[in-house]
Amino acid sequence: MEYSIGIDIGGTKIAAGIISKEGEVVHKSTVPTPSMGKDEILSLLKEIIQNLLEWAADQQLALEGIGIGTAGQVGFFEGKIVSGTPNIKNWNGVPLRDEIQAYTDLPIYIDNDVNVLTLAEYQFGAAKGCEEVICLALGTGVGGGVLTKGELIRGTWGGGAELGHMTIDMNGKECNCGLRGCLETYASGTWIAKRMQELLEESGLDSNITSYDVIRLYHEEDEMAGQVIQTMIRGLANGIVNLIHLFNPQVVVLGGGVMSNGQWIIDLLKDEMKTMGMRSLVDDVEIRQSELHNDSGLIGAAIQTWLYK
Ligand SMILES: [Zn+2]
Repeated sequence: MEYSIGIDIGGTKIAAGIISKEGEVVHKSTVPTPSMGKDEILSLLKEIIQNLLEWAADQQLALEGIGIGTAGQVGFFEGKIVSGTPNIKNWNGVPLRDEIQAYTDLPIYIDNDVNVLTLAEYQFGAAKGCEEVICLALGTGVGGGVLTKGELIRGTWGGGAELGHMTIDMNGKECNCGLRGCLETYASGTWIAKRMQELLEESGLDSNITSYDVIRLYHEEDEMAGQVIQTMIRGLANGIVNLIHLFNPQVVVLGGGVMSNGQWIIDLLKDEMKTMGMRSLVDDVEIRQSELHNDSGLIGAAIQTWLYK
C-alpha cells in the first residue's frame, strides 16, 4: 500500500493526515487556523508535518509525498500563494512549497482547495468514471474546478477556473472581487443570508440570520425565504448553463456547506434548467451532489502526490 501526507488549509481550520492511495484516511488531526497568519501557520505546519513523518516512521509506512490544498489563489507551478483569502492573515505571496521543502525531501504539491476537491470527486466520488467534469463548492464563497480529459484546467499560472466569479448579472450586487452579480453573490451561503437580511430589514424585522436559517425557513414555506431561494436557484442555474455551454461536461458536481442534504437544490435546478440554454448541450448533463464530505479536502490534497509523480 502507498501513503502520502494530505493537508487542507482553510480559513478556520487546518486538517492534516496520512492518506492511502485508495483514498483511506489512516491518521488525522485538525487544529484551528492560527489567527496571526503567515508566520504562525508556517511554524504550525512544520510541527504538523514533523509529527506525521514520525507517526509514519513508527508505523513503518513509506511516504510518497506531501499534497496541500489551500483557500486562495495558488500558483500551482511555483507552489506559491498568489493571492490569499481575506480569512487568512498575511497569506498573500507566501512561497509555501519552498518554506516546507526546507525541512523535507518529499515532493510537495500545492493547489487551490476546490481544485483538489475536484480531484477527490473524480477519483473516489460523484465524478468517478467521468473525464469531463465541473465542480462547484457552495460555501462561504463559491469555488470551482474544471476537469477536461481528466485534467484540471489551470490557465497561465494556476489561477484559472474561478467559476464563482463569473458574472451572472452585470448590474447585480457588488462582489468582493470587484465585479458585480458574480455567481458567488447568488449561490454562496454568505449571500443567501445577505439577501434574506436585506428583505427582513426592508420589512423592519430582525435581520440576524444565517444561510442555514434561510434554508430551514424555506422548507417551512416561509415566503421571504422562498424568494431568496428562488433567486439563488435562478442565479445558480444561469451559472451552470454558462459552464455547460463553455465546457460540454458529462457531470456537474455540487458540494460545500450549502449543499449538505442538498438533493432538493438539484431537483429545483433541473426544473429551472429545462428551458435554459442549448438543449443539445444541457439536456444530457448529470447534476450530482458531492459524495465525499469531511475528508475530501485531505484526500484531494494527497491525490496530487500520485497524480503528478
Ligand atoms: Zn466576484
